[in-house]
Amino acid sequence: MVRSQNKLIDSFARNAIKLRISITDRCNMRCVYCMPTNNNEWFEQNDILSYDEIVRLANILVRLGIEKIRITGGEPLVRPKLEDLIRKLSHLDGIKSISMTTNGLLLRDKVMQLRDAGLKSINVSLDTFKEDRFKAITGVQGLDNVVSGMYAAEHAGLEVKVNTVIIRGWNDDEIVDFAKFARSTGYTVRFIEFMPLDGSGIWEPNLVVSKRETIQRINEDLKELNPLYNKNSEPATLYSFVDGKGTLGFIPSITEPFCQSCDRMRITPVGILLTCLYENPGYDLKALLRSGKSYDYITTYILECIKKKPEGIISKIRAKELRPTLNLMHRIGG
Ligand code: SAM
Ligand code: SF4
Repeated sequence: MVRSQNKLIDSFARNAIKLRISITDRCNMRCVYCMPTNNNEWFEQNDILSYDEIVRLANILVRLGIEKIRITGGEPLVRPKLEDLIRKLSHLDGIKSISMTTNGLLLRDKVMQLRDAGLKSINVSLDTFKEDRFKAITGVQGLDNVVSGMYAAEHAGLEVKVNTVIIRGWNDDEIVDFAKFARSTGYTVRFIEFMPLDGSGIWEPNLVVSKRETIQRINEDLKELNPLYNKNSEPATLYSFVDGKGTLGFIPSITEPFCQSCDRMRITPVGILLTCLYENPGYDLKALLRSGKSYDYITTYILECIKKKPEGIISKIRAKELRPTLNLMHRIGG
């Protein structure tokens, strides 16, 4: 493949090499920190990008230097024939990996098809090991399905990571249990700070459990953690235990924002390009696709958009502008 000479470089000299594609805003859960309460405002079906449209945009972006694609949502597994999309994306010339973030409810029965289509790794979200609490956080029952989905993914040969959003008063008493789970399974458990991307408007600073506090609580119980070198340039800072068993990641989006090393961009289910998680409204690529604009036209447009990428949440923190629902996570996908 001939990569374009142009790269996705913004005015802060950051180079986007990772793309997150949110393929639906719909979900079979209602997580308190994500979904709007009583949400029934879904995108219209005919506004949602088809798989062919997604692949066309991904093709342009891969030529501009995107190396890794993550499929997300809403819940990606509620969209039929997801394996068809993964297969097409994994055949793009120049792509290095296709991964997915899922709530795991539907994973067990789909995992072989996803792997055979080219999926290499999977992040499964899980915030509690208690069934009643699982229902309180996600609005549904199904803890066993999620855990068995993880094991099925591991069995199928996928790399498994666990995403855990810690919220004070909801699940912070399970921090050590998640650390022990990483030790016993060998999965990487990533503790994510609660971000003001909640549709329900519950976010407030004292619900955020910082990376620092999380590490301190684990150290008190399980003794020393050792920093690890993160070879994948991910925002998670990684630690292992002194005996080397189990990996923990910490994503301190609020207390230690990593905007200056951001290498991501995002496409929403309706084809809006977001150069930053906190960008609003973003840039309408679907309109360009559906009005028949050429490949070169869309390429030039995207290069103009990326130049305007904002500094990120770090500037909102500096200006003391954090408040709930700065954007909607169930549309963007993380
Ligand atoms: N439905 C899938 C899932 O839950 O894994 C994929 C989409 S979900 C929006 C992607 C990730 O964002 C999940 O790991 C979820 O826990 C995380 N997330 C959602 N809302 C969040 C928030 N307000 N702050 C931090 N992480 C959040
Ligand atoms: Fe659905 Fe994922 Fe949001 Fe939970 S975090 S409501 S599973 S999109």
